[in-house]
Formats: sequence, structure tokens, C-alpha cells
Amino acid sequence: MKKIIRSVAMAFAVIMIIQFSSCAPSAKSVFKTEVTEWFESFDADQTVGKSKQVIEYNKDGSVAYEYPVTGTKDFDTRIEGLFNKFAADFAPVAQGDKLVMSYKLYSPAKDVYGLELVTKAVLNGEQREEVSYINFVKDIEQDKEFPEMLQKMAVIEASDRTKTPLDKDNVTFLYKTDAITVIDGTSSVDVPYVYVRPYLPELIKSNVQQDENIRVIDVTKKMVAVTYDDGPHGVYTKQLLDILEQNNAVATFYEVGSNLSIAPEQVKRASDMGCEIGSHTWSHANLQTSSETKIKQQLDDANKKFEEILGYIPKTLRPPYGAVGSAVKEISEQAMIGWSVDTEDWRYRNAGTVFNSVKNAGNLDGDVILLHSIHKTSIEASKDIIPWLIDNGYQLVTVSELMKYRYEQILEPGEFYTYNYFDNEPKTK
Ligand code: ZN
Repeated sequence: MKKIIRSVAMAFAVIMIIQFSSCAPSAKSVFKTEVTEWFESFDADQTVGKSKQVIEYNKDGSVAYEYPVTGTKDFDTRIEGLFNKFAADFAPVAQGDKLVMSYKLYSPAKDVYGLELVTKAVLNGEQREEVSYINFVKDIEQDKEFPEMLQKMAVIEASDRTKTPLDKDNVTFLYKTDAITVIDGTSSVDVPYVYVRPYLPELIKSNVQQDENIRVIDVTKKMVAVTYDDGPHGVYTKQLLDILEQNNAVATFYEVGSNLSIAPEQVKRASDMGCEIGSHTWSHANLQTSSETKIKQQLDDANKKFEEILGYIPKTLRPPYGAVGSAVKEISEQAMIGWSVDTEDWRYRNAGTVFNSVKNAGNLDGDVILLHSIHKTSIEASKDIIPWLIDNGYQLVTVSELMKYRYEQILEPGEFYTYNYFDNEPKTK
């Protein structure tokens, strides 16, 4: 009898406990509170439209998500469909499994929405948080042409979230941390617009160009770098820049340090126009035959003057006469640039002959053309050369742009890049 009483008392105690726990909020309301709080944490970041929430509790697998409502009907339909699909695809395995999604909506380029989709899920008891990025063109017709690679970015772990796929300079491709092996441990690759531009829809192309005011280089097209040595010249440098400006073109100027004070405003103007300014030493010294002390002085003195005028030290150096020895390779902190097409303008001093030397040089794609900015005839020749190159489908780029976009070469200090880098065969004598 005593035994029975005891077990009855125990049963009571069990009931009491059950009763007591049922006074606590139900799992359903816990879930609701939890996701609502989480949704609220996104509110401050929403700059576009309102949110719509869906919260569905089920002990065998709950789903809660909120998605943007912008008022643009086509867009909203697409977004709603997308979130609904993700929710429908969720296949819970164990009790307590859940899928919760929220988002940040931003505008990386005009007429484009960037959606950062943040997902928290428990699947088969395992918790994970992921972020993925999806870009939409607001106009549904344009969106159809939007390349798939830009529409959907790979999912990354939430802890690696540092980037958005479209930004000022790049499209960022994101990967799951274990999806690729990357040397520096990052899980994203930035691809400059110049590379992806040909594959972008017209709408994005024009917006990227318009918004950022950048000169657009198409890596799929021919490109050539025109270079002018020995300046600046008190009269001709200005005339050259006028020619370039009229043709919406750029060139690279290898200026002599001691000449810089002749026309500092033109050197600055060239730099502002997007031309590249490179060093041609302080006083046109032969760096192959100079002592280490002299080499250092030639480079340092010039760089000091460049910094004074431009506010920066040029990235590239053209060694006078193309003369390079082991000492300068050791000393130079700049990459050294030669050429692959020598017009010999300093010798001919005849505009027609100089123009012909360019016209007759064959395929110029990837070439570096050598001219000088201190001869009247070279400026006259340039009046024909620059538009002729453009008419023949060449994009005029700077030396550094050519190295980057045509050769995908990271410029190494002290390295001498000359005709063998620019072409298989030297076009110089
Ligand atoms: Zn020179």
C-alpha cells in the first residue's frame, strides 16, 4: 500500500512538472519571438521598400522568412517567387529543424538591385548560417539578358561575408570556403569591370561607365600603348595632349626629371587626363654604364621631382636608350619598360615617314610604340597616328594598363619588360 502511495505521489510530481512547463511559452511562440527579433535586426539596413513576413511553425520543421516589397510589380513578383521557392525546397529531417531567411536590399548600380540573402538553418540538428548574393535588373525584360553568373553568386559562410558582388570597380565572385582552394585563404575573387564588361548587359555597361566616369577598356579588343619620351617640351607636350584629348585617347609619357619644370602644368594635365607618367631618369643617363651611386641619384632625383608635381612617384621607368644592366635591375624600385615598335622619329624627322613606320608595322595588338615629344615632326605624325590607330580598331591604353589587361602581368620592380614581353618578335631593328 505504501508503495502504491509513493508511486501515485511520483506520478503527481511528474504531472506537476508537465503542468509547470506548460506555463512556459510554447515552442511556437518561442520560434515566433526569436525570428521576429532577428528580422528586426535587419530593419535598420533596409533602404528600399517594405518587408513582408511569413512565419510557419511546425514541430517537424519550421520556416520563417521576410522578403522585400518595393512597389515595382515585376520585381516584387520575382522576389516573392524566389523566397517561396527556397522555403518550399527546405526538406526538414529531424524535429526542431528550421529555415529562417532575411535580407538586405541595396543598389550596387543604377537600375540594379543587389539582394544579400542571409539564411539561418538547422537541418538534421546541424546549424549553419549562409549568405548569398543575387543581383536583379529592375526591368524584367533586361533581367532576362542579365548573365546567370552575375545573377547568382555562390553561397558563402556567414563569417566570410565581407563583400557585395557588384561594387565600384569589380564584380566579386564569392565561393563557399571549401569549394575552391585559394592561396591566401580568401573565398572571393574580384574581377575588374574591364574583364566582365563585354559580358554585361547593355544597361549595366552604361551605368558602370556613367556612374564611375571611368575610361572603359574592353579586354576582348585590340590594344596598343603609344609612348612619348624625353619631354616635357614647352610647346609640343601641350599640342600632343590636345591631339589626345580630341581623340579621347591616352598615352604614356616618359619624362626627363630635369625637364619637368619646363611644363609642370602639362605633366599634371596629362596625369589628370588618365595618361601615364613614367620616369626617364633625372638627366637621360645611361643606366647600364653608370655607377650604382649615379643610378640611385638619377632615379631618386627624378622621383622626388615627380612627387613634387604629381603627388606620386611613377610606377614605371623607361631606361634611356633601352640600356639596362644588372645594377639598375637591383636598384630600381620601378618596373622598367622598353618598346616593341621603334618609329625612329628622332632620326627621320619627317612626319610622313614616322606615320608610315607605324602603318607598316603589321599587327600592333599588344605593342608599345616609341615616339618622342620633343620633335615637331613627331607631333605632326601623331595627328595622323592617333586617329589611324583608333580607326583601325585599336584601343589606346597606357603601358601599365597594357601590362595589366593585355598581359595580365603584375609589374615587378627592377624587371625589364621589353619587346619579348609585348610580342613574339621584335619589331625594332
Ligand atoms: Zn630618351
